[in-house]
Amino acid sequence: MVRCIVLCLFLVGCNQQKRALVLSETRGYRHASIETGVQVVAEIARELDLDVITTEDSSLLCDEKYDVVVFLNTSGNILNEEERIALKQNIQSGCGFVGVHSAADTEYEWDWYGEKLLGAWFVSHPPVSESMIEVVNREHPSTSHLPEKWFCVDEWYVYDRMPDGATILMNVNNHPIAWCSEIGSGRSFYTGRGHPMSSFNETDFINHIKGGIAWVLQ
Ligand SMILES: [Zn+2]
Repeated sequence: MVRCIVLCLFLVGCNQQKRALVLSETRGYRHASIETGVQVVAEIARELDLDVITTEDSSLLCDEKYDVVVFLNTSGNILNEEERIALKQNIQSGCGFVGVHSAADTEYEWDWYGEKLLGAWFVSHPPVSESMIEVVNREHPSTSHLPEKWFCVDEWYVYDRMPDGATILMNVNNHPIAWCSEIGSGRSFYTGRGHPMSSFNETDFINHIKGGIAWVLQ
């Protein structure tokens, strides 16, 4: 009996499922693609064998330790001080961060978020249009499936800075549009794509996000 209990505890310990939190809370602009994007990213997380929680409530950052936190088209100042501390501690202890599109239009008043975790903030954008992305690094799980010149329709953000210390993965109009970096023992991945609902139906874009999540998981 005792041996059985010990074995059960051992198996439970080994099978501890990794956890993903997908946050799409908005205090500013709200993208019409959010609901579709949440479904797609949740499905990606399940394919990566993650337990996934999707939410509009950033207080969940304080509830658990996560293995990856995704800011999916978040906007505005969504975190209070306690939530900021929880996210920062999570990342510094090895949790991955993935920012999609308007994750860069989020938390302007939290320096660490824009300067370190995400790498830049959104400034402006021209109307949605087709552009050619130059995939400058195809050694990364988020880009290895992509052509060198990737034509797609999206809303092309301009940012306030070059992401400091990041590895640039893709450029558009001669500036970075996707990048990744290591932060303490955690990892961060950002893609500027993800404005139109149609982007979340593109297999190449879905695999781009999937590769990004897989990379930050380490
Ligand atoms: Zn947008």
